[in-house]
Amino acid sequence: MRKTSPPEPEKEGLEKEKPEAAARAALLSALAPKPVPTGLKPRKIPLRTCVACRTERPKRDLVRIVRTPTGQVSLDAAGRSNGRGAYLCPRLECLKAAVKRRALDRALGAPLPPDNLAALEAEMAALPFGAG
Ligand SMILES: [Zn+2]
Repeated sequence: MRKTSPPEPEKEGLEKEKPEAAARAALLSALAPKPVPTGLKPRKIPLRTCVACRTERPKRDLVRIVRTPTGQVSLDAAGRSNGRGAYLCPRLECLKAAVKRRALDRALGAPLPPDNLAALEAEMAALPFGAG
C-alpha cells in the first residue's frame, strides 16, 4: 500500500518552470510601483493657504474669515458661512499682518471696515486654538 503515487513525468515536465516564473512575477510586481487606480481618488486633506504668511495648512488648522453680504467681516468658525472668505492661521500675528499688507482686503475683495478690525482681533484672540 503506497500512499504517495509517483508524479507523472508529463506533468512534471510542464510545471518545472512554472513556480519559478510565478515567483519572479510576484517579485516584479512587489518591486514595481503600484498603479494608481483611475477614478478612485485618494482621500486628500483639503489644504488652504494663509493669506498672511502664505503657509499651506490643512483647512481645519486655519480659520476662515468671511465677508458677509452686509459687508461685515468676521471669523467663520464653522467654515460654512456664505460670502467671500479668506484663510488665516489662528494667530493674531497673521491677522495683523494680513490687515497691514492688505492681503485680507485683496482676498475678501473689499477693504476691511476700520471699526471691524477690533472685533475681528477679539474673535481671533478668543479662539480655542491657542497661540499656535
Ligand atoms: Zn499665517
